Amino acid sequence: MLKGKTALVTGSTSGIGLGMAKAMAGEGANLVLNGFGDAGEIEATRAGIAKDSGVEVVYSGADMSKPAQIAAMIEEAEARFGAIDILVNNAGIQYTATLEDFPAEKWDAIIAINLSSAFHATRAALPKMRGRGWGRIINTASVHGLVASVEKSAYVAAKHGIVGLTKVTALETAGSGITCNAICPGWVHTPLVQKQIEARAARDGCDEAAATAAMLERQPTKQFVTAQQIAGLACFLCSDAAAQMTGVPIPIDGGWMAQ
Ligand code: NAD
Repeated sequence: MLKGKTALVTGSTSGIGLGMAKAMAGEGANLVLNGFGDAGEIEATRAGIAKDSGVEVVYSGADMSKPAQIAAMIEEAEARFGAIDILVNNAGIQYTATLEDFPAEKWDAIIAINLSSAFHATRAALPKMRGRGWGRIINTASVHGLVASVEKSAYVAAKHGIVGLTKVTALETAGSGITCNAICPGWVHTPLVQKQIEARAARDGCDEAAATAAMLERQPTKQFVTAQQIAGLACFLCSDAAAQMTGVPIPIDGGWMAQ
């Protein structure tokens, strides 16, 4: 389905981003991987996807909190592949504390990585996307782009912000062959969430199974969404069937938003 296209997925060395990157490569897209981690493991991931999918896969270690590095990553990808056809703004971090205890530098980091990076990447990728008259921009938001939880001020603000950015991007690109949508997952068991499970178990003095059950209270199915399920939705958004879907925040959340 995506043969001849190029997808850049930020934060794709782990979790949801890695799932989306693998699925898009599986559909034939060339790939730019991005994110942090052990250099040997990242190279093994890169080479593995290239071998399994028969596509070109390159890696950029650009730090999504640094606008100049984001611009350079897009420029390098365009030099290599001509244009980025599919941009997935996915990199994200989490930090939890009440407002009074929230460190200002954590606020700044979350806004930079979870929100501003999508602005910088989108504005850099748009001109060449417009030149091809086709594009898909997918922003990984969250149910926290639509509703709030305590102790997540920066995360909820960033995710509400990215839903707003999604709508503006959709309006400014409407009719150009480019769409922009936001995926809003509920709980997905990735390293980002594992840290929250461990923190909750420590806080509540319980084991990880009990902490997980407590966290899943908000998610009516009481089951985690998987990265593969989110990847399936992202691939659907790249398909012709989704060409008239734009500017939408799409929950994939085990019923969380139905409450
Ligand atoms: P993860 O920790 O498994 O992956 C995060 C990725 O972002 C990694 O590749 C990491 O290296 C990368 N990253 C972090 N800081 C970066 C930086 N400064 N520059 C470049 N890359 C950076 O987490 P995940 O759960 O897969 O999260 C991916 C996205 O999904 C995030 O935007 C997160 O907010 C969102 N999300 C996650 C859940 C969930 O339950 N896991 C739910 C809703 C939304």
